[in-house]
Amino acid sequence: MTLADVLPSMGKSLRAKLDQDVWPLGTSIGPDGLCVAGVSANELATRFGTPVYVLAEDEVRRRCRAYRTALPEVEVAYAGKSLTCKAVLRWVAEEGLSLDVCSAGELAVARSVGFPATRILMHGNVKTPEDLKAALAYEVDRIVVDSLDEIAQLGALARYPQRVLVRVTPGVDGHTHKAITTGVDNQKFGFPLSGGAAAEAVAAVLAQPSLRLAGLHCHIGSQVSTVAGYEEAARRMVTFMGQIRDTHGIVLRELDLGGGHAVPYLPGEPTFDLTGYAQRVRVAVSYTAATVGLPVPHLTIEPGRAVVAPAGITLYRVVTVKNGFVAVDGGMSDNMRVALYGAKYCVRLAGRQSNAPLRTVTVVGRHCEAGDVIAEDVPLPTDVHAGDLLAVPMTGAYHHSLASNYNQVCRPPIVAVRDGQSRLLVRRETEDDLLARDLG
Ligand SMILES: *Cc1c(COP(=O)(O)O)cnc(C)c1O
Repeated sequence: MTLADVLPSMGKSLRAKLDQDVWPLGTSIGPDGLCVAGVSANELATRFGTPVYVLAEDEVRRRCRAYRTALPEVEVAYAGKSLTCKAVLRWVAEEGLSLDVCSAGELAVARSVGFPATRILMHGNVKTPEDLKAALAYEVDRIVVDSLDEIAQLGALARYPQRVLVRVTPGVDGHTHKAITTGVDNQKFGFPLSGGAAAEAVAAVLAQPSLRLAGLHCHIGSQVSTVAGYEEAARRMVTFMGQIRDTHGIVLRELDLGGGHAVPYLPGEPTFDLTGYAQRVRVAVSYTAATVGLPVPHLTIEPGRAVVAPAGITLYRVVTVKNGFVAVDGGMSDNMRVALYGAKYCVRLAGRQSNAPLRTVTVVGRHCEAGDVIAEDVPLPTDVHAGDLLAVPMTGAYHHSLASNYNQVCRPPIVAVRDGQSRLLVRRETEDDLLARDLG
């Protein structure tokens, strides 16, 4: 039972409000439903169809600026895998961010908008020869090497001085979901510090005449909500830089601490303390550098989710209400995170106001899997019916980028909203698109 059930009059006023921590700044709710950046959900659904990804441009830009303000001396590289499309890459470029890509495909989008190569890093535990060649052809500034095979291959393909970072696994647990934990030993990313693999990788890079070792990289995981893991990783990385100086006589100047900063998916969940992160990581890096007698390295960070997740909302149309389930016209093809990580979302009626009492329902998708769930056990008004519009917040990151064609369903469009205007960024996929690849 919720407070709104006990006090129906309060329920009305509670429901008329939005929990600001999960909706883009400037989202409001009125008699005609939800309004994002001055554009009504009804209008968006009518004009672009459903499901539709709505992206608040100002929220993306505001988040880029928050990073730049909190960490003015740090290079902030947007992790493009969270959401890559031309407009978003233009926005982050305009806001002064760098970019981290992990495939030739992501790089192709960056190229198409002229993202400066001097501000691009390439990542990935598997980079195919095509990925490496694309990175070299565009002359990306840094390639983050992830295996001895890659170091040998890149060494053969590259021309001096291709700058590289070595991806180190610092043995720090970000305390997040197993599927997105990347900083501990015994997983597929990077070279563990323990056992000497990282030291071996450094020696392998130094032995390649075409490569220049610029520094080190680590990324402890995604949806990491506390700062302590980053501090510990920073200390271990700088300590390792001291060992590299002792062994090889070289002073590395760059340290990339990766991304993974958490966002609240549900109202009341903690937000990542960016100011605290900035202060504590700065202290950890400079203190450790002083202890081992190194100059303070230049820092790079790579937030993806924290830049775009809170700017995105998905709108769905209810198709049927049955057996306690509210079924909508999208599902795991546009939101894989529930099936992948058991992610939790909140849902709200977006096309109108309802004074009906709330009841707990599960919102499910259209796909042929029992696990095709959008949100389990969420409160929605009892009068929700077929044709209603629902909105799910916090869908800007790892939604469009993880979308699939399961059941030959066409992937939704992305629509940007700003100052009362909407603009189609990525059009809806069509059956012609699907058939075009199928050669019979
Ligand atoms: C995924 C990833 C990021 C971004 O993670 P977020 O959780 O979206 O901030 C940054 N760096 C690397 C190497 C990654 O793999």
